[in-house]
Amino acid sequence: RLHNTILELKGNIRVFCRVRPMLPDDDCAGTPVIAYPSSTELQGRGIELIQNSGQKHSFSFDKVFNHDATQEDVFVEISQLVQSALDGYKVCIFAYGQTGSGKTYTMMGRPDTPEQKGLIPRSLEQIFQTSQALSSQGWTFRMQASMLEIYNETIRDLLAANREVSRTENGVSTKYIIKHDNGNTVVSDLTVVDVVSLREVSSLLHRAAQSRSVGRTQMNEQSSRSHFVFTLRISGVNESTEQQVQGVLNLIDLAGSERLSKSGSTGDRLKETQAINKSLSCLGDVIVAISNRESHVPFRNSKLTYLLQSCLGGDSKTLMFVNISPEPSSMNESLCSLRFASKVN
Ligand code: ADP
Ligand code: MG
Repeated sequence: RLHNTILELKGNIRVFCRVRPMLPDDDCAGTPVIAYPSSTELQGRGIELIQNSGQKHSFSFDKVFNHDATQEDVFVEISQLVQSALDGYKVCIFAYGQTGSGKTYTMMGRPDTPEQKGLIPRSLEQIFQTSQALSSQGWTFRMQASMLEIYNETIRDLLAANREVSRTENGVSTKYIIKHDNGNTVVSDLTVVDVVSLREVSSLLHRAAQSRSVGRTQMNEQSSRSHFVFTLRISGVNESTEQQVQGVLNLIDLAGSERLSKSGSTGDRLKETQAINKSLSCLGDVIVAISNRESHVPFRNSKLTYLLQSCLGGDSKTLMFVNISPEPSSMNESLCSLRFASKVN
């Protein structure tokens, strides 16, 4: 009950911070830049960043996961939120952060490894298990999956049979027009697949991963320059009580939030980075407007926010992970990410 009150006060938007561990290839020159406040008050909720100059920056969020938090530790904290999609809520979970900070690890992880699979496979597992369990109470669920990416403000269908057609570069496409109808979002021409098992949706995720566009930057060869949006629509009907529910679960792996100079962008990369920066700042503006209950929410300023319009406002539930790299050389990016996240929290 207390939990619900907190959610209401915050306009249903929560922010979790996750710091990934140091990795063997990390540049560990310099002093550790992230320390955790020891005060019991902020235990598990606070994070401090100490610059080489000694200047300290403190932030607090709804939850802070330390570098040793496991995928399971993280999922435990979001499983109820995922569950609420089966109760008819619209749920959005985002991963925000610079390239290499652990967004994809958090969202997808290694799907075939029990310990390392991320929250997308875990959420789907839970949803299929629960929906099966609910069938003994008369519930039948229909699940529909779609997977798309937004690259340079253009939607690409990751499940389209013919990739050539969907991958229209530049120009204004007449495909994938976003329409909102009575709280439902329809993207014209987008492939929507009925899924009845975890195995089915897992193979779709695999297909989508192969279709994703990746670019090369100095920071990370496989850095994702696009937003990945996985959507599961859930329609449930109970044959004995005639109750109906319509829930949506959106799981979003955002493009890297790093700024221009660090990735040394020019040409196409520069254009990509500008599109990414614009849509991430629009996302921030939208979330801030929603949590301040402003009358005008600028959903239309980017494809991402317009796509998610009906899942961000109203009584929907939003969670943003801000992923942080502990590398000393990433300190400025970490600071930017933490500032962004505390603005939306
Ligand atoms: P991003 O998607 O933000 O670019 P990744 O998720 O690809 O970052 O993470 C970068 C690297 O760090 C990957 O090799 C990933 O496996 C590893 N990594 C990220 N988070 C963790 C974690 N919590 N535990 C262990 N390894 C992690
Ligand atoms: Mg990634």
